[in-house]
Amino acid sequence: MSGNDARFVCDEMLGRLARYLRAAGYDTALAAGGAPDRQWIDVARREARTLLTCDRQVLRHKAAHGHVLWLRQGGLDHQASVLRDQLGVNWLWRPFTRCLVDNARLQHAGAHALGRLPPDLRSRSVRECPACGRIYWAGSHHRRMRARLADWAGGTIDGGGAKLQLQHGEGSADG
Ligand SMILES: [Zn+2]
Repeated sequence: MSGNDARFVCDEMLGRLARYLRAAGYDTALAAGGAPDRQWIDVARREARTLLTCDRQVLRHKAAHGHVLWLRQGGLDHQASVLRDQLGVNWLWRPFTRCLVDNARLQHAGAHALGRLPPDLRSRSVRECPACGRIYWAGSHHRRMRARLADWAGGTIDGGGAKLQLQHGEGSADG
């Protein structure tokens, strides 16, 4: 599997990991609770996703072979390193190009979205989600997530080249 076009579906216990995968730019669905394991295995197969789960029982399904990665519960840093080492996930692939909440691809914010921001934020690189209307810009929460992504990627921040333009509005203090 090529890490750079991988797609995922996370079980409901991996909601935080799903947000970080989206933050890194990966198409990541979240399996809602209640449905049988087999249904999510089928989704993974049909949509060419890897099912990430903390539930070992899922591995007992024959259809799971090659489509499921079991992760130890808790320990986000550990889970991130497993994804990097075993699936080739590049945590700085396309940072902050997807909505963290619903997985939609972000767009450059239009005038209407910019008008909802305080004036001092309007000059920064701002994106908006076409699905839910959330606005994303390079604020402090964003910086913390980005630092974590960089850690997971192996400490290199320049690996994404031009894909990192969203952060450039933030200044160069951590360059
Ligand atoms: Zn959204």
